[in-house]
Amino acid sequence: MIRIIKKMPNRMKVPLLYAASLLPKNLIENKEYKDYVKFLAESELWDSTQISEFQNMQLKLLIKHAYENVPYYTEVFNEYGIRVEDIQDTGDLKKLPLINKEIIKNNKDKFIAKNFNFTQLNKISTGGTTSGPMEFFDTHTTVNREMAFFHRIWNNYGYNDQLCLVLRGDAESSEKLYKYNPYKKLISINTRNINDHKMKGIIEIINKYKPPYLQAYPSLIYLLSKYINEHDLSRKIPNFKAIFCSSEKMYDFQRDEIKRAFSTVVIDYYGHSERTALMEYCPICKMYHVIPEYGVIEFLDKSGNSNDVENHLTEIVGTSFNNYAFPLIRYQTFDIATMSGSNYKNKCNKPYVSIKEIDGRSGDFLITKDGKLYSPTILDFAIYYIPNFKEMQLVQHDYEQLEVLIVPSKSYKKDEGNRFVAELQKRIDTKMNIYITLVNQIERPSNQKHRFVVSKIKK
Ligand SMILES: [Zn+2]
Repeated sequence: MIRIIKKMPNRMKVPLLYAASLLPKNLIENKEYKDYVKFLAESELWDSTQISEFQNMQLKLLIKHAYENVPYYTEVFNEYGIRVEDIQDTGDLKKLPLINKEIIKNNKDKFIAKNFNFTQLNKISTGGTTSGPMEFFDTHTTVNREMAFFHRIWNNYGYNDQLCLVLRGDAESSEKLYKYNPYKKLISINTRNINDHKMKGIIEIINKYKPPYLQAYPSLIYLLSKYINEHDLSRKIPNFKAIFCSSEKMYDFQRDEIKRAFSTVVIDYYGHSERTALMEYCPICKMYHVIPEYGVIEFLDKSGNSNDVENHLTEIVGTSFNNYAFPLIRYQTFDIATMSGSNYKNKCNKPYVSIKEIDGRSGDFLITKDGKLYSPTILDFAIYYIPNFKEMQLVQHDYEQLEVLIVPSKSYKKDEGNRFVAELQKRIDTKMNIYITLVNQIERPSNQKHRFVVSKIKK
C-alpha cells in the first residue's frame, strides 16, 4: 500500500502517509523485511567460522545462479573456462574477471537474470559525475534487506522509528526550509545554498521538534557544527542520541567539530547505490568494519592482487548477495580504502575485517606526474592551520597547478592560508604551484555532495 501512496501527488500523499503511520506497524512492514531483521539480529552474534561458512555458501549459490541464468556470466565463464565448481570459497573469486560501470553499460540486458520477469524489477540509475549515469535493476528483496541492514546499524544506537532530522541532498529552489514526513518521521532540510540565515532556521527547528536522531552528509553537519561552535550554542540546543553520516568521505576534523557541537556518538557508513559493499564505522575501534552478510568485499592493489598491508591504498571491489535479478560479481567501485594491516585486532572483539580509512573515489585524489596518489585524507591536518575557514576545496587543474578555494570566516587571516599552503607542499613530494583563492561559496552539484579534492587531470 505504501508503494501506491508514494506514487500519488504530494498534496494527497502527506495526509495518507500520516494515516498510514497510525496503522499498527506489523500491518505495514512486510514479512520478508521482518524475517531479515530477525536473521541479522542472530547473525550479529556469529563468530568468524560461522561468517566464512555463510559467505562461502552464499557465494556458491550466487555463482551457480549467475552461470545458469545471467547471459553475461554464462558467456564470460565459458570464455575463461571457469566451471561453477571452481568457485568454492571467497578466495576463489579472483579466478573471475572484474566488472565495472563501463562493462555494465555496454551489456545491460545481458546482466538481467532470465528467471526474473520485468514486473519484479526496480529500475535504478546511479548519479554519474565522471562517466555518466549507469542504469541497472534490483528487486523488492534487495530493498527489504537493505532496509534491514540499516535497521540493525541504527538500532544498535537506540533508533526505533523516532523522529529524525535530515541534512542531505534534499535541495529545492523553493524558499521553504524543511519538509516534514509524518509517516517516515523525517524532517528534511532544504540544503540548497545553505548560509547563516538557514543555519539559524535549522537551530530553531531542532529546538522546536527536538529530533533525537540526525542523518547527514558529513560536509553539511560539519557546517552546522561550525556555526554552533562559533556562536557558542552547543549547550543551548537539545542533543541528539546519535548522528548518522554517509554518502561522503568523513574526515577526522569534521568528526571532531561535530562532536564538539553535539557531544554525541557520530557514526558513518560506506555504501553505494549499486549495493555491493557495506561498511560501518566502529566508535570503539575507530575503524570501518566490513558487514559480511551483505556480500564479499575485496581490497585490491593496482595489479589486482589482494592487499592487506598496513597503510596501503587499495581499491574496494564488491560482490553482493542480495540482488539475484542483476547480480554484480567483482564490481569495481573505484573507491579507495587504507588498510589496517593483517596484525590489527579489533578492540571491540567483533570478528569483522577492519579498514583504517575510506578515502573516497579515486577521482578525488591529488595526482603527481609520476603517478603518485594523495588521498584527500591529507586535508585532515588543515584544521590546525586554518581555524577560520568555513569551506574548502582543492582543485587540481593540471600536474603543476593546485588551486585552494577557501570560504573564509570573519576572523580568517592571510597567514593561516599561507601556513596551510606551506604544510600541504611539505606533504606532497613533487613541487606544485599551490595558490589560494578566497571565495564566497563553493558550488555544490544538484545532489549537494561536497568534494574536498577535485582533480581535473584525465587519467
Ligand atoms: Zn570495532
